[in-house]
Amino acid sequence: MTDKIKVVFLGTSASVPTKDRNLSSVAMRFEGEWFLFDAPEGVQRQMVAAGISYLKINHIFISHFHADHILGLGGLLATMNIHGRDWAINIHGPKGIARKVQDSLSLAMLQPGFEVRCHEVRKGVVLKGEKFVLEAFALKHEIECWGYSFIEEGKPGEFDRAKAISLGVPVGHLFSELQHGRSVKVGGKTVKPEQVLDASKARAGRKISFVFDTLPSKGYVKAIENSDVLVHEASFLEERADRAQETMHSTALQAGKIAEEAQCKKLVLFHLSARHKEESRFENEARKAFGNIVVAKDLMEIEI
Ligand SMILES: [Zn+2]
Ligand SMILES: [Zn+2]
Repeated sequence: MTDKIKVVFLGTSASVPTKDRNLSSVAMRFEGEWFLFDAPEGVQRQMVAAGISYLKINHIFISHFHADHILGLGGLLATMNIHGRDWAINIHGPKGIARKVQDSLSLAMLQPGFEVRCHEVRKGVVLKGEKFVLEAFALKHEIECWGYSFIEEGKPGEFDRAKAISLGVPVGHLFSELQHGRSVKVGGKTVKPEQVLDASKARAGRKISFVFDTLPSKGYVKAIENSDVLVHEASFLEERADRAQETMHSTALQAGKIAEEAQCKKLVLFHLSARHKEESRFENEARKAFGNIVVAKDLMEIEI
């Protein structure tokens, strides 16, 4: 059975925390490893509430340097240090990320006992795992801001181990090549993946996209196309569309239109402005453009 991918909303508010909503941040689990997207104030407490271990995070992705997305980073690194972390953490973010991280460390008077590796994000693949890639795409905000897509590699079919052995393929890394749909050479002859894969059990990879602070824009539609889940900011309702435009944010309806255009399967709205109290209105407005919507609450979990 395939391990479910889990997405946990650690915070869902825009700009300021409220009684019910922490500042926006999302964690995603894939096969035991957690990825964290944004590290605002309060993120540690939300992780504790969600039962996410600091030890299982090796990659943190920062969308941009506005206060409500990054001010929790120093505290989080300090806690990792207290927990005795002794292996590297990777922090991905906009140009100048190394300086920002350095500033956070010096503010916290922290010299961590582990390596902090900073990576400036560019469009395209920012992290490649054995079974997935994580891609970044540019958003349209007041400052450099990135969205991220997690894209799982599809399975071309179920691997018939006995058949592979009978065809002379030695147990080892050639199995993995075949499992990934690539032909291998064994003793002068070629074994093709279709000889050892049951295509009736093929499965498309899952895709989950995270769109942080942005004006809605055609520029990132392609990058998020066909996402199983699109997590999209929706700071405002239509009655404040002028304010959304001014501060370079999206309305719920605009997020719905983007989800529709990109042919996503499910839309989750987050990063909601505290000025709009009734969350049902976010859902109702987005629904005018797109059917399958959830308005995120803090600590809400979805599985894919
Ligand atoms: Zn924000
Ligand atoms: Zn912002």
